[in-house]
Amino acid sequence: MIIKQNLKHIKSQLPKDVTLVAVSKTKPISDIMEAYDAGQLVFGENKIQEMVEKHEQMPKDIEWHMIGHVQRNKVKYMASFVSLIHGVDNFKLLKEINKQALKHDRVINCLLQIKIASENTKFGMTEATALEILKSEEFKNLKNIKITGVMGMASFTDNLEQVASEFKTLKAAFNNLKTIQAFNCDLQTISMGMSGDYELAIENGSNMVRIGSSIFGARNYSI
Ligand SMILES: *Cc1c(COP(=O)(O)O)cnc(C)c1O
Repeated sequence: MIIKQNLKHIKSQLPKDVTLVAVSKTKPISDIMEAYDAGQLVFGENKIQEMVEKHEQMPKDIEWHMIGHVQRNKVKYMASFVSLIHGVDNFKLLKEINKQALKHDRVINCLLQIKIASENTKFGMTEATALEILKSEEFKNLKNIKITGVMGMASFTDNLEQVASEFKTLKAAFNNLKTIQAFNCDLQTISMGMSGDYELAIENGSNMVRIGSSIFGARNYSI
């Protein structure tokens, strides 16, 4: 029941145009089903194998988002069903996604992950690299992917001014990248904000939030 209540509470706070990705990583099917039964259809996972297993066992109208770092050699396992890949942080990965999507005769929506945090541990490309990719001739040949937006993760810090400034950086990058015209590029989505900072993210332009622990409770990595 608590998951249902948490979901209801969070949804009541989100503006209509903000998509909620319920981050279900490490959580059992029973927890995800509780959210599903309460009407949640979009779930985010950060490990491909775990997402594949959950996809196999769960209702097929669920939209699965890959929000974690993606290894190129594992794209093939999710290419038949993944609905959005948030963490595209290099061109080689994008080309592999295109190749695997072609095998399934589908177009896979992708977000470019932009590095906005000051820490070295966070993945992502610079805005300049993203621009370079979208303007390249090679990009125009990728018919089985579509770039639908950007994703970013703020620094892990209590300094809210810094976090807000990082969110603003992502919004500005989005605005610049959005000016590029290509058939496989239609930027609509700014994926930023997690349990601890989603309100601030929305204030700064997010329209897709990735929320885990505030819905499902704290994760336990030791089991
Ligand atoms: C785990 C995770 C989240 C959700 O984090 P919470 O703090 O539990 O809301 C969001 N985005 C990414 C990329 C994650 O890996």
